[in-house]
Amino acid sequence: CGIVGYVGHRPALDVVIGGLRRLEYRGYDSAGVAIANGGRLAVERKAGRLANLEAQLDMVGRDEFAGTSGMGHTRWATHGPPVDRNSHPHRDGTGQLAVVHNGIIENFAALRGELEAAGVEMSSDTDTETAAHLIAREYAESGDLPASVRAVARRLEGAFTLVATHAAEPDVIVAARRSSPLVVGVGSGEHFVASDVAAFIEHTREAVELGQDQVVCIARDGYQVTDFHGEPAEAKPFTVNWDL
Ligand code: GLU
Repeated sequence: CGIVGYVGHRPALDVVIGGLRRLEYRGYDSAGVAIANGGRLAVERKAGRLANLEAQLDMVGRDEFAGTSGMGHTRWATHGPPVDRNSHPHRDGTGQLAVVHNGIIENFAALRGELEAAGVEMSSDTDTETAAHLIAREYAESGDLPASVRAVARRLEGAFTLVATHAAEPDVIVAARRSSPLVVGVGSGEHFVASDVAAFIEHTREAVELGQDQVVCIARDGYQVTDFHGEPAEAKPFTVNWDL
């Protein structure tokens, strides 16, 4: 239901949790984060309120989540009950690749069948998890995260804002959208992706609205928008002028 991603110079966990808090008003049943830290992804997710997730983070120890890039999600369950294992982020079998997703992947049953036939084991009931395995498979072949997200976005039917991160690429986050909102926040030495500008306006008011079937790759010092085939695409810059 709510998404925030960050690449920059601040502790990503604080930025992500702060962003999720600002999206809480939309309602949700579970929450989770993935933070890139020293070549691995630290992931925690929990059914219930954000406070449950925060208590869990305190128990595990927030040092585990010390990186400056990461993403978070608040879920409104559509496929599978609101329990920990269905909460986002969802990972591939290696735990190196994680995705969060808002929306519904209409053809997930066919995709899931294809993955299971190839020997992939599912660890949730969600439509989202299929995207994690598919992107990981593409990445294993190409080593190109934006290209992997684009290839999978082309195969998905339905509505999605999909954000992916890979442990081997802590300096970028890639997001794709179709019929579901996605905005970029442009800061100095930091960039954000979110389902709603509310997630980042305490940090920047310079925003870019992605159009239908577009993909963005954010890094510390810039961002790049393409269509699902990798062709450069025009997204719409605007300034958020409402008060906090
Ligand atoms: N369809 C996904 C799920 O059930 C995402 C739901 C959402 O938009 O939060 O996990």
